[in-house]
Amino acid sequence: MDKKITIAIDGFSSTGKSTLAKQLARHLGYAYVDTGAMYRSVTLYAMENGFIDSAFFNSEGLTDCLDDISLQFLFNPDLGYAEMYLNEENVEGKIRTLPVSNLVSLVAEVSAVRAMLVKQQQHMGENKGVVMDGRDIGTVVFPNAELKLFMTASPETRAQRRFEELTQKGNTVTFDEVLYNVQERDRIDTHRKDSPLVKAADAIEIDNSDLTIQQQFDKVLELAKNALAVTYP
Ligand code: C5P
Repeated sequence: MDKKITIAIDGFSSTGKSTLAKQLARHLGYAYVDTGAMYRSVTLYAMENGFIDSAFFNSEGLTDCLDDISLQFLFNPDLGYAEMYLNEENVEGKIRTLPVSNLVSLVAEVSAVRAMLVKQQQHMGENKGVVMDGRDIGTVVFPNAELKLFMTASPETRAQRRFEELTQKGNTVTFDEVLYNVQERDRIDTHRKDSPLVKAADAIEIDNSDLTIQQQFDKVLELAKNALAVTYP
């Protein structure tokens, strides 16, 4: 039997969870699951079908249509990771924009949405060998994960990273808009009733404000090796 573990990465918005998760998954030969992409896709569906905009949210209407939403991760060999498909359409570009970021935390508060996505996530990780990032992975999706990380960084550091990422992709946004979005999402994510963002008691906190991507990776790879050694003595 393959000696594999489950790695849960939670934390605030734009703390570099997905960069780290992708590196780890590639290095260990594990699957990477970006659960934020799933919440973003449901949000995109809600926007495109008139269930939500900046002034209005028909959460019951969305809940009634959840069966019509099909989400799939398809591996892209050129990129080396899986991309998100919503009802057969590649939505990678559409789900990472500020309009989606501004509404996603409201959609993520809806318990029926969470229940549907958590079930799919648990199914994707049932054989271990998965690195999953999100807000409730170590607390709700995989409370028994062998390695749990909780990522933090200052709001300004995080907004700067997200701002650079968005402008590089050609989005027209201001730093202040991005900072507001990051702080507002953190506020909603930590205060919601269902599965709020909290650090699991057994998660290891990593503040990467002053770490390079390589330093962070080296540190976490060491933690993953230790977790493997403890799980399979
Ligand atoms: O990780 P990302 O920033 O793409 O996540 C977008 C939003 O999706 C988060 O701000 C949060 O509201 C929601 N989310 C969540 N639970 C997860 C992953 C994301 O509530 N496991």
